[in-house]
This record gives sequence, C-alpha cells and structure tokens, in this order.
Amino acid sequence: MASDEGEKGFTLVELMVALALVGILVAVSVAVYIEATRRAKDVTCQSNLRILRSAIVVYRAANLQNPDSLNDLDPNFVRDVTGLSCPASNIPYSYNKEAAEVKCEYQPHASY
Ligand SMILES: [Zn+2]
Repeated sequence: MASDEGEKGFTLVELMVALALVGILVAVSVAVYIEATRRAKDVTCQSNLRILRSAIVVYRAANLQNPDSLNDLDPNFVRDVTGLSCPASNIPYSYNKEAAEVKCEYQPHASY
C-alpha cells in the first residue's frame, strides 16, 4: 500500500518536459505577436500615405494649386490619419509642395 502513494503525481523529468514545452510555445507566440504588430504598423503607414495622396488630389481639384502643407488638407478627409506621422516610428511624413508628394522617412518604409 505504501508503494502506491509514491506513484501518484508527476516525476521531476515530466514536469521539466512540460515546462520546456510551455516555454517554447510562449517564445514562439511572442515572436509571432511582435511580427504581426510590426506588419500592422507597416500597413497602417501605407494606408495613411494613400489617404494623404488622395486628399492632396482633392485639394488640388478644389483650389487649383497644391496645398502649402499637409495641415491644409481637409480635416474631414484625413481625420483617421493620426498626427500625420508614421505609426511605426512617429516620424512626421515629409511633403514636397512642388511635386505634391508625401512620403514616409522611416527607413524600412522608404519604398512606400
Ligand atoms: Zn512609415
């Protein structure tokens, strides 16, 4: 009877294996979360630039000239663009009035 009590529960090796598996799952989950967050910010930046470019076209059609700055754009049109800066770096978008060109200066987004 006394030997049966010793066989209940987990052995140390079983607990170590279970903890190692949980650790591996947590490490993979954190890496996937970080990558998904980065991709979401990249896509948000691209979306912001697309909205700003559209707003510049609308401004030019209404005023027959390019806006002096991004702040001159219709706030109703660009209200979803948070702070006119890249969500990944908080670097403000650069604007070239002559070319009516807006772009992200954050180096990983330089091709947007
Ligand atoms: Zn960006």
